[in-house]
Amino acid sequence: MKEIVPESPAIVRNQQVAIQQLFQQYVVPSYGRFELAISHGQGSQLWDVNGKRYLDLGGGIAVTSVGHANPEIADALSAQARKLVHISNLYYHEPQGRLAQQIVKHLAPGKVFFCNSGAEANEGLYKLARKFGHDEGRFEIITALNSFHGRTLAGIAATGQDKVKKGFEPMMPGFKHVPFNDLPAVRAAISPATVAVLIEGVQGEGGVTPATAAYLLGLRALCDEKKLLLLMDGVQCGHFRTGRFQSFQRMLEGVPGAEKFLPDGLSMAKSLGNGFPIGAFWIREPYADLLGAGTHGTTYGGNLLGCAVALKVFEIIERDGLAANARKLGEFFRNGIIALAQKYPNVIKGPRGLGLMVGIELGDKDRIAAFAGSDKPAATQFVNRLHEAGLLTVPAGTQIIRLLPALNLSQTEATEGLKIIESVTAKLAA
Ligand SMILES: *Cc1c(COP(=O)(O)O)cnc(C)c1O
Repeated sequence: MKEIVPESPAIVRNQQVAIQQLFQQYVVPSYGRFELAISHGQGSQLWDVNGKRYLDLGGGIAVTSVGHANPEIADALSAQARKLVHISNLYYHEPQGRLAQQIVKHLAPGKVFFCNSGAEANEGLYKLARKFGHDEGRFEIITALNSFHGRTLAGIAATGQDKVKKGFEPMMPGFKHVPFNDLPAVRAAISPATVAVLIEGVQGEGGVTPATAAYLLGLRALCDEKKLLLLMDGVQCGHFRTGRFQSFQRMLEGVPGAEKFLPDGLSMAKSLGNGFPIGAFWIREPYADLLGAGTHGTTYGGNLLGCAVALKVFEIIERDGLAANARKLGEFFRNGIIALAQKYPNVIKGPRGLGLMVGIELGDKDRIAAFAGSDKPAATQFVNRLHEAGLLTVPAGTQIIRLLPALNLSQTEATEGLKIIESVTAKLAA
């Protein structure tokens, strides 16, 4: 295959400082950004404005599932753009209907609502829950500590981490947090006002922690018993990243009694559009018609461009067997990280996660001499060193770094990535 590496426009070439100055002057400083200005990409490679190449194992935070500048995605996007871009949800169009059909086909009978982001998909689930419980005066949603559900006002209220709430009180009422993977804690938290339970299949921002099969099955039974909706946030762990369409399908494989497990609502975004902003939530029968005409909406949701791209992403993932690739390379990273933990136990504690949602748990900062001098968390310092060595990854909290690469990462690239991680680890251990 001929490598097409677009030349970066002259205005940004070698202009990292100028770009950062633009941000300093004109962009709201709500993000703690790394000192990198990226110019272009191809597959799992990215180039910064100075021409340095990086292997990208962060995937834009689990988004670019079929790789950067994917030519098939670019073709689907431009073909749709030449045909029709936007009509609003006042009218019907084929791509939205076909994309909903794809999602339902991978889950179970139900219906899909389209929006533009993960936080917005979860907003839809909160509204679904409120509508469901409204006539009985039930509205409260139980979520997990260490969860992450987005940055809207309801999203930060739902999220079980104080750092996202700080400064934005009073919190929107109606959310209660309990420890993750702790079924008795959920049972104890249920009140007459409770209407739903919301969890991530694999907690992402909270540190790459999968739910256990027993927890999922226990939640299903508990929700049935108490007439609660079981809602799952599949924004980060979904879309084939764990080796199945949704993480619960992977986690429950071969588990007795799990054949019929389903949540009642499920949110999606990130990998769904490979970087084209699109979110969605699926509602299981018999709740699929709860949000009737006039109850929920968004101007851009399910627009032609997003749906055309998401359909192409589905097609590529299935045609190329990328779920199987996610499983295979997930195992490869997992085994590689176990070996690194044995070799360098002060620096790396071990792997976490499922499929290509990989966490690397780092040793305590004070046990890594090179980290002790800085007040930055171990995860940030490790990620910075990986950048210097040409590898992009994503921190989660203070102790964990995440690999959330494209699902079409090659074995060669995975091997290269692990080698870079080992070289940085070895230096820190020395
Ligand atoms: C990223 C994320 C969200 C928020 O998605 P946005 O598109 O950033 O709004 C919600 N839930 C989980 C689990 C996420 O990882």
